[in-house]
Amino acid sequence: MLNFEEDFTPAVAPRMAAPAPMPAAPVADIPAPQARRVQAADKRVINGATDVNQLVPFKYKWAWEKYLAGCANHWMPQEVNMSRDIAQWKDPTALSEDERRLVKRNLGFFVTADSLAANNIVLGTYRHITAPECRQYLLRQAFEEAIHTHAYQYIVESLGLDEGEIFNAYHEVASIRDKDDFLIPFIDTLTNPEFKTGTPDADQKLLKSLIVFACIMEGIFFYVGFVQILALGRQNKMTGAAEQYQYILRDESMHCNFGIDLINTIKMENPHLWTNEFKAEIRTLIQKGVELEYRYAEDTMPRGVLGLNSAQFKEYLRFIANRRCQQIGLDEMFPGVTNPFPWMAEMIDLKKEKNFFETRVTEYQTGGALSWD
Ligand code: FE
Repeated sequence: MLNFEEDFTPAVAPRMAAPAPMPAAPVADIPAPQARRVQAADKRVINGATDVNQLVPFKYKWAWEKYLAGCANHWMPQEVNMSRDIAQWKDPTALSEDERRLVKRNLGFFVTADSLAANNIVLGTYRHITAPECRQYLLRQAFEEAIHTHAYQYIVESLGLDEGEIFNAYHEVASIRDKDDFLIPFIDTLTNPEFKTGTPDADQKLLKSLIVFACIMEGIFFYVGFVQILALGRQNKMTGAAEQYQYILRDESMHCNFGIDLINTIKMENPHLWTNEFKAEIRTLIQKGVELEYRYAEDTMPRGVLGLNSAQFKEYLRFIANRRCQQIGLDEMFPGVTNPFPWMAEMIDLKKEKNFFETRVTEYQTGGALSWD
C-alpha cells in the first residue's frame, strides 16, 4: 500500500516519541534529505539505484534529445492520401505481377514486425532500463511502433488486400517466419518475468538482446523492405505507401541509433561484459541476420524487379552490416563493400518539409513557438 509519509516520518517520529537522549546509530542511519536527492553522476543505464521517476537531473542527454526529435517527427498514417495507390492497385496495367508479389510479401513481414518490436519494448526492455531519460525515449518509441503497425494496416485496408493472407504471412511464408524465429528467443529473454539483470551472465543476455533488436532487427531486417517500397515510389508507383515508408524509415533509423547509443553506454558503464567471446558471438549473430535478410530479398524478388537485383542486395546488406559493427565497436565483417543504393541515405536524412514525393506536409515542430498573447 502507498505510504506518502514514508520519506519523512523516520526523521521526526523518534524525536517526538523519545525526547530523552537519542541513540546515535538510528539517527546516523537516516540520510539527510539532501543526500536522498538524485545525483546525475549516480544514474546508470542498467542496474541503477536512483529513482526512475525523476527525469532530471539529466545524465543521458542523447536520450532526451532523441525523444524531442522523435516528437518533432510525429506523423499519423491517415494524413497520407492513398487514392493514387488504390487506383494503381486496381489498374491491371499499372503494376507487374512481380511488383504485386513484392508489395504483399513486404507487408507480410512488416504488419507483424512492429508489434514484435512494441511488445519487446513494453514487456521486455523497458523494465530493465534504469535511466529515466532512456525510458522516456522508449515510451515514445513504443508509440511509434504502434503508428507503424497502424500504417501497414492502413495500406492493407486501402488496397483491399486479403488481411488473413498478409497478417498470417509470418506463420506461412518461410522467408518471413525464419526472420521472426531468429528474433523471438531474444525477445523472450527480456519478456520472461523471471529474468533479472545484475549478474554478468544476465547483463550479457540483456546486452545481446538489445544488439539483436537494434542492430539486426531494426538495423538489418527492415532494410530490404524499405528499399523495395521506396524504389517503387521513385518510379512513381505506390507513392502513398512509399511516403509512409519514408516516415517509418526516418523513425526506425532513430530507433536504431538510440539502441546503439544505449548499447555503447551499457558497454562503457560495464566494460567487463564486452569480452572477446561475447564479441565473437555477436558477429555470428550479425552474419546470420545478413543471411536471413538476403534469403528474404530473394524470396520477395525471385526474378529481380524495379531495376533491383539480388547481387545489389547482397552488397547492400553487407554494407549495412559493416556499419552496424562499426557503430558498436566491432571490426567490419565484409571489407571493401560499397553502398549500391546511395539514394537510401538521402531518404533517411530528408526533412519532412522537403518530402521526396512532394505530397502533403504536416509540421509538428511548433510546441516551442507557441505564443499566449
Ligand atoms: Fe522500431
